[in-house]
Amino acid sequence: MPIRGLKLFKIRGGVHPNANKDATHDKPITDLPIPELLRIPLLQHIGSPAEPVVKRGEHVLKGQLLARPQGVISAPVHAPTSGRIISIGKFQAPHPSGLPVMTITLKSDGKDEWVDSDAVTDPFDMEPAEIAEKVSDAGIVGMGGATFPSAVKLGLGNRYQLEKLIINGAECEPYLTCDDRLMQESADEIIDGIRIMIHTLGVKEAIIAIEKNKPGAINAISVAAADYPEIKVIGVPVQYPMGSEKHLTQTLTGKETPARALTADLGIVVHNVATAYAIHQALRQSKPLLSRIVTVTGGAISKPGNFRALIGTPVSHFIEHCGGLTEEPAKLLLGGPMMGQPLPSTKAPIIKGSGGILALTEKELRLKNPSPCIRCASCVNVCPCGLLPLEMASHARAGDLEGAADFGLMDCISCGSCSYVCPSHIPLVQYFNYAKGALTEKQRAQHKQEEIKRLIAARAERMEKQKQAKREAMARRKAEMAEKKKQQSEASA
Ligand code: SF4
Ligand code: SF4
Repeated sequence: MPIRGLKLFKIRGGVHPNANKDATHDKPITDLPIPELLRIPLLQHIGSPAEPVVKRGEHVLKGQLLARPQGVISAPVHAPTSGRIISIGKFQAPHPSGLPVMTITLKSDGKDEWVDSDAVTDPFDMEPAEIAEKVSDAGIVGMGGATFPSAVKLGLGNRYQLEKLIINGAECEPYLTCDDRLMQESADEIIDGIRIMIHTLGVKEAIIAIEKNKPGAINAISVAAADYPEIKVIGVPVQYPMGSEKHLTQTLTGKETPARALTADLGIVVHNVATAYAIHQALRQSKPLLSRIVTVTGGAISKPGNFRALIGTPVSHFIEHCGGLTEEPAKLLLGGPMMGQPLPSTKAPIIKGSGGILALTEKELRLKNPSPCIRCASCVNVCPCGLLPLEMASHARAGDLEGAADFGLMDCISCGSCSYVCPSHIPLVQYFNYAKGALTEKQRAQHKQEEIKRLIAARAERMEKQKQAKREAMARRKAEMAEKKKQQSEASA
C-alpha cells in the first residue's frame, strides 16, 4: 500500500515544465504491426557494442541470438521477429555521437515464428548468479533510457553491502506516458519482476516511487503489491529530474550520492519499472528483450498513442500507424523533450531505451535564436548537480574540454534544466553533450596512443632481448669452435 509516513527529502534545483501528457495518458497500450524491415543496432546500451553471430542471407527465428556481448559491460541483441538478414553494416541510429552504428537489417517473413526457448525454472529456486546470467542472456538493459546492462547491476551485491532496491516509476519527462500505462496495465508482472530482483540482490525491501500526477499507476501498483510487505509504494513530488537515479535516491533517503560514485555506495540499487517487467518476462517466460512500450506524441502527430513495438522498428512506421503528421515538425526526437536525442531521419529505429517519439511543432518548442549570456545565474540555481553551467558552456564553446571538465562536465547528467530556464535561449545541454562525447573520444584516443607506445616499447625490448640472445649464442658457438679447433690441433700434434 502507499506509504504515508515516509519522510521525503528535497532535491537541489530542478524545474517544473508543463507535463503535456494529456494526449496519451489515457491511451491504452496497443500492439504496433510488425514492419517489413527492422534495423537492429549493435550498440543499444552503455558499454561495448555486441558482435554479430549471424551472416547476411541467413534465416533467423524470433528470439534467436543475433549478436553476442563483447566484454563485461555489453549486452546481446536478438531477432525481434523471424525473417532474413539482408545486411550487416553501418546505419543511422539514435546515438549521442550522431554517428552511424553497426546495424543488422532483418526482413520480416511475416510468420513471427519463435526459436525454441529454454525451460522455465521458478526463479525463487535459482541462485542469484543464475538469475543474473539469465537477465544478461536476455539482453536486458535499463529501460528508463540509461541502458546500462541490468545483469551488472543485479550483481552489485557481490561488491557492495546493499540494503534497498528503489524502483523508478517517476516518469518525470514531459509528454511520455509509456511507464504510466505499463504500471496501470501490467502491475502484477512488474511486482513479480521486483520480487525476483529483491531475491537476486539479497535486499530487505523495495520502494516504488511514482510521481503524484499518476494516481492510476499508484493505485494499480499498490493493489498488486498489497500482499508483499517488503514492497512499498510512494508518491513523489512532480519535479524534473525526479527520475534521475541519484536524485530519486536523495528524495527517498536524504542521502546524496557523491559525484562519480554509485548509489550502490549508499547501499541502494535503482531500476526502472519497465526493466522489472522485462525481468519478469525473461525469468517466467524465457523471453529475451525484443519489444518495449513507446509513447508517440507531440503537436505534429495526428493520432498520438502508446504502443508495444519491436526493437528496431523504424520511426516512420510509428508515424504512419499514427495517421501521419499534421504539419512538418520543428523537431523530431527519440525520447522526451528534455533528454531525448534529435533524430537524423525517420528511417532511424527505436532501441531498447527509447520511451518516446516526439514530433514537436514550433509553437511547442518556443524556438528563439540564442543571445549572449547575461550572467543571470538562473542555470546555476536549477542545476540539480550543483554545477556552474555558464562556466562549463563558455569553456566547451571555446573548445577547452579540460577546462569544462574542471567545472564538472562529466558530472552533468544532461537533464537539460539549465537550457530550459536560460533567458538567452543558449542550448547549454547541447554543448555539454557534444563536449562529453568529444572528451570521451579524446581520452579514448589518448589511451590508444599510450597503448601503441607501450606496445612499441615492449616490441623494442623483445627485439633487444632476441638480439642479445643471438649475440650470446654466436659467442658461445665461436668459443665452442675455437675449443674444437684447439682440441684438433692438439690431437694432430
Ligand atoms: S541562464 Fe543563460 S543567461 Fe543566465 S547565466 Fe546561465 S547561460 Fe547565462
Ligand atoms: S544539463 Fe547538466 S549542467 Fe544543465 S542542469 Fe542538468 S546537470 Fe546541470
